[in-house]
Amino acid sequence: APILLWVRRDLRLIDHPALVAAIATGCPVIPVFVQDASVDRLGAAPKWRLGLGLEHHAKALRAVGSRLVLRSGPAREVLEALVEETGAEAVYWMRGYDPEGVERDTAVKEALVDRGIEARSFAGHLMFEPWEVQTGAGGFYKVFTPFWKAVKEREVPEPLAQPLNIPAPQVWPESEALADWALGAAMRRGADVVRPFVRLGEAAAQERLGNFMAHKVGEYVEARNLPGVDGTSGLSENLSLGEITPRQCWHAGLRARNVGKAGAETFLKELVWREFAYHLMWHTPRILTDNWKEGWDRFPWSEDEQSAEVIAWRQGRTGIPFVDAAMRELYVTGRMHNRGRMIVASYLTKHLMCHWRIGLKWFEDTLIDWDPASNAMGWQWAAGCGPDAAPYFRVFNPVTQLKKFDPAHAYADRWIAEGRLEPSRDALSYFDAIPKQWVLSPRDPYPAPVVDVAEGRMTALNAYANRDF
Ligand code: FAD
Repeated sequence: APILLWVRRDLRLIDHPALVAAIATGCPVIPVFVQDASVDRLGAAPKWRLGLGLEHHAKALRAVGSRLVLRSGPAREVLEALVEETGAEAVYWMRGYDPEGVERDTAVKEALVDRGIEARSFAGHLMFEPWEVQTGAGGFYKVFTPFWKAVKEREVPEPLAQPLNIPAPQVWPESEALADWALGAAMRRGADVVRPFVRLGEAAAQERLGNFMAHKVGEYVEARNLPGVDGTSGLSENLSLGEITPRQCWHAGLRARNVGKAGAETFLKELVWREFAYHLMWHTPRILTDNWKEGWDRFPWSEDEQSAEVIAWRQGRTGIPFVDAAMRELYVTGRMHNRGRMIVASYLTKHLMCHWRIGLKWFEDTLIDWDPASNAMGWQWAAGCGPDAAPYFRVFNPVTQLKKFDPAHAYADRWIAEGRLEPSRDALSYFDAIPKQWVLSPRDPYPAPVVDVAEGRMTALNAYANRDF
């Protein structure tokens, strides 16, 4: 009898424990992706990127004699129906950790087991299961550095090899057509502008990792802070959909560290930030929706998603070059440099005094590397209400930050067209990407600040000083 391989955020063949275990049974394997509520809920850009990822992965499966069966509906019903249809006796999948996914998976598992079907989930989206890392007192970590110390010397298993072929069933169940799912339909922006920035599939992810280790890791400690320099791995996009695993990155990082490459340890640490985000989400799922520090519920953030300030922020015309450059980078590439993310998040929640949830939602809709855990941790960190957050009174100054981290104006020039005699191609492409309704033109004058940097800082600090928490 065949085994169903329920494919989710694991669009790869290398280092895939559930796939390897399924093949090891000697049974035919039927990979299936279910378009359920978790897909419907995705923001526009992550959903579009998922569609590209699925198309690519289906081809990769074909190349090793397999297929990707697509079905829509509630996961439990779809899988039960497929079990019935194919006579499968087991369903395997790679574990997820977001609260809604966990609830769904638990229900699926119970329903399958009730029918006498084997249901097995495998670890691999993370290096360390969130419940396996514990403080001395048996609790979970709320601060990064001790978390890092607790895991950094742990043995991480070597990645698994790619199977040579995947045994196929005699008859393939019917598949829906990916095109009919129209996963890109909600992309309001010009998807053709964003498409060249996407690195699709596991071969591209491996290439990114190899390129980073060959050319960038040595300078990573400094270069990772410079948004005008291509100094980071770019792997978040691929990690998000499981086109590469963290342990593949980890072992590459260890090898670089062993030969004395300067930035390797910092890279390992960044991978552990991702683990920490999942650790926090697992132990305190409310991090996704509510102030992690509850006292912040009384902080006077504006929750008006349509205020002039919020609109200017989304459209990258706050009049603050670092903020605008980063917001435009996001719109054109579906990504944003980490320093940019910190700056725009700080500016929105402090200078503009807007709730972090407004920013979190915009990122959720526009990032192609969207990750629920890292996004929530990042926003709450920047806003000051999260675990191990930046102290609220330390307000990033986006003007001095730009001078420090973009001294030659490479980043600002790359993304801002207004007022430039010869705007860069990327700066102009922003105007092709945005919706027409925004009615912006590269010939407009560069906007005056919506909120003056010094004034915004004072407003934020006063609100903080007068807080009643
Ligand atoms: P590299 O510098 O090459 O780092 C390697 C990997 O380490 C990354 O791919 C990522 O998986 C991990 N990593 C690095 N920094 C962090 C971090 N601060 N937190 C968690 N993991 C990290 N990252 C996402 O993947 N998805 C998000 O939706 C996301 N939203 C964010 C929102 C805000 C407000 C902030 C401040 C940060 C957010 N981050 C998010 C974290 C970080 O900005 C990105 O992971 C990073 O910029 C990705 O680029 P890279 O792959 O080139 O990183």
